Amino acid sequence: MSEISRDTLQRFSFDNTDLRGEIAHLDDSWREVIRRHQYPQIVRRSLGELMAATALLSSNLKFAGRLTLQVRLPGNVSLLQAETSDQGQLRAIARYDHDSSEADLSFDDGHLVITIEPEQGQKYQGITAISGGNIAAALEEYFTQSEQLATRFWLACGDNSAAGLMVQKMPAAASDDEDAWDRISHLASTVKDEELLQLPAEELLHRLFHEEQTRVYPASALSFFCTCSKDRTATALHQLGYDELQSMLHELGQIDITCEFCQQHYVFDEQDINDLFPERNLH
Ligand SMILES: [Zn+2]
Repeated sequence: MSEISRDTLQRFSFDNTDLRGEIAHLDDSWREVIRRHQYPQIVRRSLGELMAATALLSSNLKFAGRLTLQVRLPGNVSLLQAETSDQGQLRAIARYDHDSSEADLSFDDGHLVITIEPEQGQKYQGITAISGGNIAAALEEYFTQSEQLATRFWLACGDNSAAGLMVQKMPAAASDDEDAWDRISHLASTVKDEELLQLPAEELLHRLFHEEQTRVYPASALSFFCTCSKDRTATALHQLGYDELQSMLHELGQIDITCEFCQQHYVFDEQDINDLFPERNLH
């Protein structure tokens, strides 16, 4: 199978209605995540769907910042987490018990946590119990209850890519076309996973909505990007305190930190650690 690279977020709307939507295609951005980790198949798929969901939702960010979705579960797969910034930069991670022979990924009794972090200003967090057995159903429930925005999601993940489709009723918009929501969400619900994963966005829109007046906007790019850096890692190490870090240095010779998202290694030697505590070096 050839590997296409088409990491895009495509906005669309329907003329004379209060509905809009997005299509997300994740190719390289998805493969960059899975090539860094040895996740079981079922974890890879769910993480791909979660990444597609964050990409779709990032279109709602009205400021510089990032949106994170966490799926917290009681089984041996305890966490799936995906993030997308307003610039379309994605990263994701799963936590599971490597000793278990089989990944137990059941969404029963799980929770979905949505965090929105502006670069400036207050962080927002919402949480909802997962009902309906999958990520799309949990998001739909969340939007109906917390945001009071009718929203539908279709998410898919294959061997080489992940993709998603979202249709949303805009808040407080008036429209003469009262059955537009029922009609368009019904048309969207006919989408098949293969269509979502394989068809270019415009072709998919034509296939699903050719009887509607669809308006397509310029697509924006999605990419894999990790926000870690040596400086940020140093800030985290600093929290441990001078004495703790000195005893780690004494034991290990140097301190190695690996970013759990992107596997980047950061090495801190004695000089690096001393530089974190300039007040100690004055004498
Ligand atoms: Zn990183």
